Amino acid sequence: MPNPPVKNKTGRSPTRVFKGLPASDGLAFGPVFVFRSDVADQVPQFEVKKADIPAELNRLEGALALTRNQMQSLASELARRINGQETSILDGHLMMLEDPEFLDSCMSFISQQRMNAEYAVSKTVQKYADIFGAMDDPYIKERIKDVRDLGSRLIRNLLGAVTSPFTRMERPSIIVADEIAPSETIGIPKQMVLAFATDRGSLTSHATLLSRALGIPAVVGLGSLVASVQSGDEIMLDGRTGQVILNPGEPERQAFNRSLLQSKTLAATLEEGKLAPGATADGHPLPFAANIDLNTPLAELALVGAEGVGLYRSEYIWIALKREPSEEEQEHYYTDVVRSLPPGQSATIRIFDMGGDKMFPDRIQPELNPFLGNRSIRFLLENRTILRRQLRAILRASTHGSIQILYPMIAAIEELRALNIELASCKNELREQGIPFDENLKRGIMVEVPAAVFIADALAKEVDFFSIGTNDLIQYTLAVDRSNEHVSRLYQPTHPAVLSLVRQTIDAAHASGITVSVCGEAASNPFIAALLVGMGVDSLSMSPTLIPLVKKVIRRFTSPELAALAQKALSLKAEPASTIFNAIRDPITKAIPELSHR
Ligand code: PEP
Ligand code: MG
Repeated sequence: MPNPPVKNKTGRSPTRVFKGLPASDGLAFGPVFVFRSDVADQVPQFEVKKADIPAELNRLEGALALTRNQMQSLASELARRINGQETSILDGHLMMLEDPEFLDSCMSFISQQRMNAEYAVSKTVQKYADIFGAMDDPYIKERIKDVRDLGSRLIRNLLGAVTSPFTRMERPSIIVADEIAPSETIGIPKQMVLAFATDRGSLTSHATLLSRALGIPAVVGLGSLVASVQSGDEIMLDGRTGQVILNPGEPERQAFNRSLLQSKTLAATLEEGKLAPGATADGHPLPFAANIDLNTPLAELALVGAEGVGLYRSEYIWIALKREPSEEEQEHYYTDVVRSLPPGQSATIRIFDMGGDKMFPDRIQPELNPFLGNRSIRFLLENRTILRRQLRAILRASTHGSIQILYPMIAAIEELRALNIELASCKNELREQGIPFDENLKRGIMVEVPAAVFIADALAKEVDFFSIGTNDLIQYTLAVDRSNEHVSRLYQPTHPAVLSLVRQTIDAAHASGITVSVCGEAASNPFIAALLVGMGVDSLSMSPTLIPLVKKVIRRFTSPELAALAQKALSLKAEPASTIFNAIRDPITKAIPELSHR
């Protein structure tokens, strides 16, 4: 087998500036940790220390032995099933495993180029694929699949003992990836991750929301960063502007230090008043709640001045456990949340919002249009035992503090009624079993599908509160996939159609005497939050780390000032979203100049 040239990985890439979407606030500067998700398995790439090379070679050998065992038992299982015929299916794999050149190639990538074992395997697989691909023989061409499959299995086995792919980082780094799935952020070693920089993703994809929740700076939608970096490179990232500079020179470093100072000055001004209750300058109360999930350190909520939990994304328990949590486990998680809150605050638990970009391979089949598919309550209403286990768990936790229940994705009155019937039936069941719960537990719906807005007056009569989910409301109104960076410029929170739907929702809620909150990301943009408060929402809920900033803005203006701002924005119905955004941004930055870089 000829040895194709392997790129020398010493020496840095030249300085280059990339522009992406500012996904999570903050500045970061540090080495890159490349996390490749464009290959069959997610292959981490890092430099192995010289002293660790023997251990890395051992890891490779262990994974090879495990893979060999697996392939042999697969082959005999296959033979048993098909009565001894056609077992040659796996011969290609087994031959490759025994091929000394395959092994040599992996080992020399590790010992000579100091690549980690996973990356060494993926490079070797690529080398073979290139050679086979260049041959005319269709049989050999077909073998590419075998090599790739074998490589995937080896890499999976190498990663097998690792819970998060990032636990193998050796020093604090900036993760550079094609995209990061929500499940990959579970168990992330926060102290090692300086920032995320991803080629794909958008401002409201769930991985972005998680990086905000974790307070990790992030830039997404960068397009071609992964292909441009290599281990040893350094990156400077600005999560406020979306700029990423690869291997910055001296002028860029100086500008970065100035930005750091500027952001520290703003951070210092946020300290003042951050623990005061959310309110407008003339004393109109406007509570600030937190959007959280099981990754959120509960002790930090009080430190940022959160006044309760406005959205608990319960589906992350399932994602973390990789299975449905039992009723008892759920009760335990919900109780932990509500017990962590001071008296007078409440926790809004949203029932599993599965599907969309939150994958549940154990339950939901891949779909062509997952955001329009078997998502959320659609899944739960078809899987009533799962739904009932969750409702019972929430009810049981409600004896430990004030809990509210939130139904996502409501698009029709019969969905709401079906959920309310299940809730009533679970209450009856608990009564019969003598299990206590809060008889006055409030139920609300997420208004995030345009259809719900048009029937909001009817829905309002059968719930206690509305919570507007702008993340989905925008995507479903404007037909713009919230997680697709190619259309992110069309994802416009201040589009007049979106504002009109928000207006109608607020009016319908208030006409029925119920409250309305906003828990979508629009609430955490200081300018749009001001607009929402001016339009009359009763509370806001957002990533905890953004509460001090948004609270500062709301506390700076009186209710009439905010109402005038909203009126101005709503009067610009015939204008583009950007004009409407600037109409609210300009007066706010005039009053608070520290916000002008946003
Ligand atoms: C929303 O859609 O605005 C929302 C808060 O829910 P999620 O982002 O979890 O879909
Ligand atoms: Mg939603």
